[in-house]
Amino acid sequence: MGTRIIDIKAPTGYSDEELRQMVARKTGLKSFTWQIEGKSLDARKKTDIHWLLRVAVNAVGFGQPEEEPAPGLVIPYEKRNKRVVVTGSGPAGFFAAFVLQRAGFDTILLERGAEVKKREQGIIRFERTGTFDPAANYSYGEGGAGTFSDGKLTSRSKHISKERAFFIDSYINAGAPAEIRYMAYPHVGSDNLRRVVRALRDQYREMGGEIRFETTLTDLETEKGVVSGAVAGDQSLAADYFIIAPGHSAYDTYRMLMRRGVGFRTKNFAIGFRAEHLQEEINRAQWGMRSLAGVKAAEYRLTSEADGSHPVYSFCMCPGGMVVPAATGPELNIVNGMSNYRRNGRFANAGCVAGIHPDQLAGKTVSPAEALDWLENLEHSFYEFSNGFQAPFCTIGNFLAGTEPSKIPETSYPLGLKPARLWEMVPPVVTHALRAGLKDFNMRLRGYGSGILLGLESKTSAPVQALREPNGLCIGFENLFIAGEGSGYAGGIVSSAADGIKIAMNLVNGD
Ligand SMILES: Cc1cc2nc3c(=O)[nH]c(=O)nc-3n(C[C@H](O)[C@H](O)[C@H](O)COP(=O)(O)OP(=O)(O)OC[C@H]3O[C@@H](n4cnc5c(N)ncnc54)[C@H](O)[C@@H]3O)c2cc1C
Repeated sequence: MGTRIIDIKAPTGYSDEELRQMVARKTGLKSFTWQIEGKSLDARKKTDIHWLLRVAVNAVGFGQPEEEPAPGLVIPYEKRNKRVVVTGSGPAGFFAAFVLQRAGFDTILLERGAEVKKREQGIIRFERTGTFDPAANYSYGEGGAGTFSDGKLTSRSKHISKERAFFIDSYINAGAPAEIRYMAYPHVGSDNLRRVVRALRDQYREMGGEIRFETTLTDLETEKGVVSGAVAGDQSLAADYFIIAPGHSAYDTYRMLMRRGVGFRTKNFAIGFRAEHLQEEINRAQWGMRSLAGVKAAEYRLTSEADGSHPVYSFCMCPGGMVVPAATGPELNIVNGMSNYRRNGRFANAGCVAGIHPDQLAGKTVSPAEALDWLENLEHSFYEFSNGFQAPFCTIGNFLAGTEPSKIPETSYPLGLKPARLWEMVPPVVTHALRAGLKDFNMRLRGYGSGILLGLESKTSAPVQALREPNGLCIGFENLFIAGEGSGYAGGIVSSAADGIKIAMNLVNGD
């Protein structure tokens, strides 16, 4: 039995039996098995939208494929008698702890938020009552910021193929749909993610890993570059190594790390708003029709350099999804997006943000601590404007023309909209860039201008970056690592998980 790889152009609504027939026609075989290795939608011509499939066909008489599969991540087990305290159960922290525990380290995972079920209840309560729960919200809790997301698993990071493969296999073993292995733009969906996160936690505990929920790392005991204890409330946990993976929302944790001598620099990031449209509008713009058999909902990715100095781009698109109140504190008003696996909601949303440096936002050179203060103040100003968590909003037309919204439109956002002069609520440099970008988007995606903008979208990536060695070690420290999105070296679920895995593997291999 051997394998041959073939490419097939398939209609969007194909069935398994039709695919079998297409394979049979293309290979001339009667008896074979097959598995899909790659799948992407080709919608360049609206009159000929189809799937491009890469299929591995297994049959007697076929040779082995010329390309050997790339070797996977090898995690050697030995009892190491070394303890690691990992902070943050998001993709970076969880996967660091998961790999280390599997390799024979003794790990403890600290998570300030609640376990996923309790977290879900806190989010439901927040969306019903507007009462923010610091331990159960869209950013904090089991699985980190990624748990209540669209679960898009795309990543532009290079050199993470082994880590990515390990992550994808782990997700599938924990119940994620197997198609995430081969889809060009894989996504898990928030509904699946909650189950995956729970199953991974069970696996981690079965290996002996310990998780302490609702336990916040408040300080580090350090002396001459050596950390001896992680302080969480009134307890101190001793360990040989400490990995901090706090995401980019925990300003208190950033400030504590800065106080303890962890170096940071400012870096480019992006801010703006979340654009919401009727999904049907996006489907028509992308496909020329309301719906397409075999494809859930149309996506878009837009970038513009029209402003000449700041790139404007769509970010984290959630087809058929919801705009969510992603506040990270009781008086910070921030929006983000999520969707379930079926992506069958009435609305589409995506960030519409301008890439910028904190110095340009503040209008002067700022330190990393000042950059965080500046961003937190902006997030707070959106809260103050609404005196709560209604999302300040205007239409794209309003934003371009500088006119106030005259009525409240339909939205997926659960806590209501408040009409706002959004163009005056962010620095002029951002408004200028977004106006140029939005005009450009309008020309490139028919109907884009019919959408609304909700604010504030400030969680695209960290505005600061830790000073760390290539192995993740904080410069000036012997046993303190910083991982994931909060380190400023990763962004998104996959690259953050990969960063945590790499740091763990460096420890496993003694590098
Ligand atoms: C609503 C939403 C939708 C998103 N959609 C997508 C998507 O579709 N695809 C994608 O790739 N990315 C998405 N993202 C971004 C993605 O979730 C993050 O990039 C990713 O989760 C970062 O992983 P991380 O482990 O570095 O940090 P996080 O996931 O932020 O996890 C950090 C964890 O550390 C905990 N923590 C922080 N400080 C402390 C402390 N002092 N003590 C104890 N615990 C602490 C936090 O509670 C949190 O659970 C989305 C984010 C949000 C909010």
